[in-house]
Amino acid sequence: MTAMRATAPDLEHELAAIVGAGHVRVDAGARTVYGRDATPQYQGVPDAVVLPESAEQVAAVLRLAGERGVPVVPRGSGTNLSAATVPQAGGIVLALTRMDRLMELDRENLVAVCQPGVTTARLVAAAAEHNLLYPPDPGSRTTATIGGNVSTCAGGLRGLKYGVTRDYVLGAEVVLASGEIIRCGGRVMKDVAGYDLVRLLCGSEGTLGVITELTLRLVPAPEDAGTGLAYFDTLAAAGRAVSRVLAGGVLPATLEFLDRTTVRTVEDFAHVGLDTDAGAVLIFGQDGTPETVARDMERIAEACRAEGANDVTVASSHDEAEAILEARRAALPSLSRLAPMTILEDATVPRARLAEMVERIEAIAARHDLVIGTFGHAGDGNLHPTCVVDPGDGDAIERVHHAFAEIFEAALEMGGTITGEHGIGLAKLPFLEARLGAAQVALLRRIKAAFDPAGILNPGKLGS
Ligand SMILES: Cc1cc2nc3c(=O)[nH]c(=O)nc-3n(C[C@H](O)[C@H](O)[C@H](O)COP(=O)(O)OP(=O)(O)OC[C@H]3O[C@@H](n4cnc5c(N)ncnc54)[C@H](O)[C@@H]3O)c2cc1C
Repeated sequence: MTAMRATAPDLEHELAAIVGAGHVRVDAGARTVYGRDATPQYQGVPDAVVLPESAEQVAAVLRLAGERGVPVVPRGSGTNLSAATVPQAGGIVLALTRMDRLMELDRENLVAVCQPGVTTARLVAAAAEHNLLYPPDPGSRTTATIGGNVSTCAGGLRGLKYGVTRDYVLGAEVVLASGEIIRCGGRVMKDVAGYDLVRLLCGSEGTLGVITELTLRLVPAPEDAGTGLAYFDTLAAAGRAVSRVLAGGVLPATLEFLDRTTVRTVEDFAHVGLDTDAGAVLIFGQDGTPETVARDMERIAEACRAEGANDVTVASSHDEAEAILEARRAALPSLSRLAPMTILEDATVPRARLAEMVERIEAIAARHDLVIGTFGHAGDGNLHPTCVVDPGDGDAIERVHHAFAEIFEAALEMGGTITGEHGIGLAKLPFLEARLGAAQVALLRRIKAAFDPAGILNPGKLGS
């Protein structure tokens, strides 16, 4: 950036003229809170926090920022786990949470139209009232926003059967760094007019534009759903069961795993009745017509038994199903109780290599003398190795960094990736070239420069 940064009082005054004085925060409290997100160890300090209410206000803020060369970091609820909203270069944090109108649920076209600040859970609940489903289901759904979900291409518990956020984005209104407002895609199911900018925006982490409206695809809500749980002596056996389920022609709605460390920790914390002697737990689910659910749940249970599951339970009531799902939902909060700092990653491998990857992670944890519990989306090959550590122990933190570098290396060696759903942010930028290669990173930079020549949008992150 070539222009001089505005002084804070000038900037505050001009921003207030755009969004109203009550929606510009420069107090120390706001600058601290909006200087971080859900990623430990990263903290920036913005000059101002701005909460616009319309695309026109966003455009005016971006024009001003462009003139002054001030960085702008778009932000939803700040729940991302890759330091993607940390304003390490200062500037403006543009929080989209006031733009939370759910404008339309179009039952004929099966679409929803909303502003970016709507939470995932609110959209899911509104769709359910019309007997429709918005499938992406991140664990953070009660807090995270749709704008954040699209910008990180969030996944969740239904990824195996239903895909991830990008599979549900049909159109977007976007404010470019220049202040121009464009609309890409729309309510149509087919559209090949030009490059697919909607897809490009998915996972762009606030570096290409600010999303101010979204048109999202919905599907008819399934009539019925089933949930079950299987215990295995080893994660290798659970991994083989996953392959057997899929090879048998069943595509479960949910296929999640917990490793031994996570099972014990969850039971200590959440008391959901897990067998703490288990080497691994597989949580499975199916939805559809009652007949499909009954047939597939039995087939999944059979596949688990065939691979040596010691015990397989299929929930017979809503409460039992909720208790099983609670075991998965409690994984992260339970592990977090073991030490003051929790570092969660999301290396992803081809699903047939899941068990091998968990073994590699266990060996890496032992070599670095660290506690790492691993859980995740077995059906997607998406693992969340979670390391718990004392932030005051500099030596342990150093070992954590080495361990995660080795975990990413192992994932890449297996034909996997450094992040399946949490994104690059600041946290994984050092590993991006190993994943993409130099030529592709250079292409990303040229794409970024085409959208944002002055580099004001979320600088120092993807594409910088
Ligand atoms: C307990 C917990 C569980 C989680 N579970 C999951 C999970 O199951 N699956 C999963 O994928 N993730 C999960 N996450 C991570 C996180 O919730 C997701 O990344 C989520 O999509 C972030 O949404 P947000 O509104 O908090 O966005 P933020 O964290 O505020 O922003 C994320 C990124 O999007 C950009 N951005 C936000 N809004 C806009 C906008 N309107 N225009 C342009 N850019 C924008 C930001 O600049 C940033 O780069 C979890 C996090 C926690 C804390």
